[in-house]
Amino acid sequence: MKISIFSKIFGGYLFIIIALSSLIILFSFSTLKNHDINSSTDNLKNLGTTLSLQVAPLLEKNEYQKLDALVKKLGNEIKTRITIINSDGVVLADSEHSPKSMENHKNRSEIIDAIENGFGKSIRYSNTLKKDMLYVALPVFIKDKKELLCVIRVSLFLSDIDMLFAELKTKILHISLVIMIFSILGAMFFSRSLSRPIQMLKVVSKKIASGNFNAKVILKSHDELKDLAESFNNMAEQMKEIFEKLSQQKEELNNIISSIQEGLLLIDKKGIVLLANDSFRKIYETQYVENKYYWEVLMVPKFNDLIKRVISSKTNLIEEITLNSRIFLCSVTFLHKKEELVVLFHDITDLKDIEKMKRDFVTNVSHELRTPLTAIKGFAETLEDEVDQKSRHYVDIIKVHTDRLITIVQDLLILSELEEKEAKLKLENLNIKELLNNVAKLFAKKIMEKKLELKVEISENISFLKADSFKLEQMFINLIDNAVKYTEKGEIKISVKQKDETVIFEIKDTGIGIPKEYLNRIFERFFVVDKSRSRKLGGTGLGLSIVKHIVQIHNGKIDVESTPEIGSKFTVILPINPL
Ligand code: ADP
Repeated sequence: MKISIFSKIFGGYLFIIIALSSLIILFSFSTLKNHDINSSTDNLKNLGTTLSLQVAPLLEKNEYQKLDALVKKLGNEIKTRITIINSDGVVLADSEHSPKSMENHKNRSEIIDAIENGFGKSIRYSNTLKKDMLYVALPVFIKDKKELLCVIRVSLFLSDIDMLFAELKTKILHISLVIMIFSILGAMFFSRSLSRPIQMLKVVSKKIASGNFNAKVILKSHDELKDLAESFNNMAEQMKEIFEKLSQQKEELNNIISSIQEGLLLIDKKGIVLLANDSFRKIYETQYVENKYYWEVLMVPKFNDLIKRVISSKTNLIEEITLNSRIFLCSVTFLHKKEELVVLFHDITDLKDIEKMKRDFVTNVSHELRTPLTAIKGFAETLEDEVDQKSRHYVDIIKVHTDRLITIVQDLLILSELEEKEAKLKLENLNIKELLNNVAKLFAKKIMEKKLELKVEISENISFLKADSFKLEQMFINLIDNAVKYTEKGEIKISVKQKDETVIFEIKDTGIGIPKEYLNRIFERFFVVDKSRSRKLGGTGLGLSIVKHIVQIHNGKIDVESTPEIGSKFTVILPINPL
């Protein structure tokens, strides 16, 4: 249950007012009653003393009848009960009853006190009159004051005292009631004056929460609540500024997002599209993208698969996908904090076309060059037998360069074939041992000539490897050819082992090594570390580019470690099944 602040303050005040008033009334009533009893006691005491002067002579003369008559007369006149009791407790006279009918009063507490202490008082129920009474008893002595003559007891009905007190009680109650009403009204006023600013703060904060930053709390008071209201207004002012800045930034961001050429999607962790820019709408020719699942927006299996992979791996991925006959480089960034995905669609169709044109050009030129080069080579070989010693030298130079050109053309053709997106892999279960032995045979002569050693180590536990055997053979030829070419002494070691779902090949040599600064460039086309050496050894700078492409189309990885003058190690990691 919600209790308002007004009710809480007012309830507190009300409790204090009622508690205090009740305490004051109770306390004043009991004080007044005590005061009344005390003054009545004093009056009765004085009355007793006065009576003793009239009673003593009659008693001394044993005139009991006269005494009783006097007591009855006086009692009636002053509306007070008078009882005369002798030292044995026998009632000698009583203003209300016949003394003979009354029982012995020796044991009445006021009588005992009067005889022993000279004064007795008690408030109790009278068995004779059947009412609560205030009794005051005084001893009366014979003249020399040594012998007790009698005890005079005067008494009043408590109800008579109460009657006197009742009027005062009513007055006190009236005054208390008036004070209470004023206090309650005051309490209401104070409670309202305390709760109103809080109420106002509540109303204004609700307005601010609903976006009305101009709402203000205005208080007339000059207290802490006024300070609170001012701080609140300042806070609202600052919030307004921050909000304006944020909206401005949001607008700028929206402008940037809608102006970028790339299509953009923001997808939440459940797969719902939160945002899409105009470029994306143009790409997909649809307006209604937001709040739909990404698979409803883009019904492209490759895209959906890419998103699923990013969500499960929580890493960023880039892949080419085709949408409406155009090719896009689709980059998916995983935002770890909110687990959202930012997807950018970069149209690379034109770039791809140019790339294809360049590739086609290289392929066509290479094809066109192959026939004349073969003819030149053939004629150079024919010439070799027919020319004299001097001219043979020139023919040899023609032959060397023609061979180099033929190798370059061959490598270029291989490379363009590998670069073809559609480059198909003829996958088959590979016999690694047989393949490596066949390649090793190709280099046996060269290795013998250079007095090198070739070691092949194939681990026992290799299960199977699915790969294109022709392309893999080409890869090993290039890697082993380099190792043999760039090693003058020592050994070439090929090792094969399996780790999880991959097969790891290492081709290690003890050759000249590669300087550190060139390590990340050696896979580029036509890159050679030492041009003259490479040319002398018949290198084209295309071998490692071919190797890298072959590894890539098998979904594998290639890495190189090398130290000049110590040797190089090429590591190829291939999945046992590239699909
Ligand atoms: P190339 O036909 O010139 O060998 P590659 O593309 O095969 O062209 O290699 C690029 C360059 O990398 C080579 O020119 C050579 O400098 C360096 N390289 C490749 N393999 C090795 C190796 N095993 N030892 C030392 N250098 C190497």
